[in-house]
Amino acid sequence: MLTLKPRGTNDFLPGEVEEWQGLEARLQKLFHIYNYHEIRTPILEHTELFLRSVGETSDIVEKEMYSFEDKGFRHLTLRPEGTAGTVRAFMENKLFSGSLPKKLYYMGPMFRYDQPQAGRYRQFHQFGCEVFGSEDASVDAEVIAFSLDLFSRLGLKELQVRLNTVGCPKCRPGYLQALKDYFSEYKAELCLTCQRRLESNPLRILDCKEEACARLSEDAPTSLEYACDDCTEHFRQLRAYLDTIGTEYLLDHRLVRGLDYYTQTAFEVVSLAVGSSQNAICGGGRYNKLAYEIGGRDLPGMGFAAGTERLLLTLKEQGIELGKKAHPEVFIAPLGFNARVKAFALLEELRKADIPADMDLMAKSLKAQMKTADRFNASYTVILGDDDLEKGTAVLRHMDSAQQEDVLLDTLIDTIKKGLEHVSY
Ligand code: AMP
Repeated sequence: MLTLKPRGTNDFLPGEVEEWQGLEARLQKLFHIYNYHEIRTPILEHTELFLRSVGETSDIVEKEMYSFEDKGFRHLTLRPEGTAGTVRAFMENKLFSGSLPKKLYYMGPMFRYDQPQAGRYRQFHQFGCEVFGSEDASVDAEVIAFSLDLFSRLGLKELQVRLNTVGCPKCRPGYLQALKDYFSEYKAELCLTCQRRLESNPLRILDCKEEACARLSEDAPTSLEYACDDCTEHFRQLRAYLDTIGTEYLLDHRLVRGLDYYTQTAFEVVSLAVGSSQNAICGGGRYNKLAYEIGGRDLPGMGFAAGTERLLLTLKEQGIELGKKAHPEVFIAPLGFNARVKAFALLEELRKADIPADMDLMAKSLKAQMKTADRFNASYTVILGDDDLEKGTAVLRHMDSAQQEDVLLDTLIDTIKKGLEHVSY
């Protein structure tokens, strides 16, 4: 019996893959416009990398990592997100030695042992960008404005930026204590996970989706109230940059993001046209201490990551198609062995002339072959019988108008080329 795909993974079939290709091509163009360069890192990393970066109390590390020991007893993990590996590669390859900041982007599969449901998978894809080497608030503003521009250029409607600052190692302890004090008063009302978070990571209570926790979070102390002078000033500058280019945002003190490594800026882009709790299209923020945790060197960073499946789902819901369905422009339908041999040669000529073409490879009847040509959505079908061959001609059928003409075999390729002059494929 056939072994089926692992739970939470997907096959992307022809017809669907074109949407992925269309999206990836557009993303590459936009990253280029904003002067980002692609980096490709391994899907496997040492488990320790994620323990040190994503944070031991994060959902990812606590319960979602695909970790295993390889044959050499190394502890490895399939990457659950892209930032840690990008920072590791940046440090390991000493990319900090050139001029800064460096602007990188990535796209590829990520793995989390999550409960699969619509829009949530165990192998999913993300693309994202990271800017290394500058603490300046203009970087935060550029990344946020870029993400908004990117999604609106893809055609998404009703986009909104949600913005918060989550403080730094200087001011966060005071804020955490304030959250602890506040939530402790309502401990019995918190969900069991948040009762635990009260000790391990009270910040995470703020983004709990449980009704009681969410209600209590509304009136919780805000990080801005506890921000140190540096963080307050950084946030003020960030808002000034965003204001000057007219980028609107909603201040959301509950936005803390699930990963421990954020400092100062945290943001999300949501589509209000999507009515579900999964309306966040991308999330990101600043992580000034991550490089130190990973490689012992201070290197500020700022970036975002977006889930590709969820983005494609949102695009589809909003009726936006990015993919161009590739199809042969010419289909050759030969009848009889000699005609098939000639068709084989013609096919080669068409392809060498860069014209997407195909022929029947199953010796089907003419009727069946015409059906195939229709299904391929070809512009032309060349019908070639043994009698035509003797006359040195073929029948050229224009599929749109259903008109047919006899064409000399010697001029067939040129006739087709001329007919397709204005078609881009
Ligand atoms: P995160 O890295 O958790 O901040 O997630 C960033 C984006 O990745 C989210 O907004 C989702 O679009 C996407 N994402 C995260 N987890 C999954 C998953 N299990 N399946 C599909 N997409 C996901």
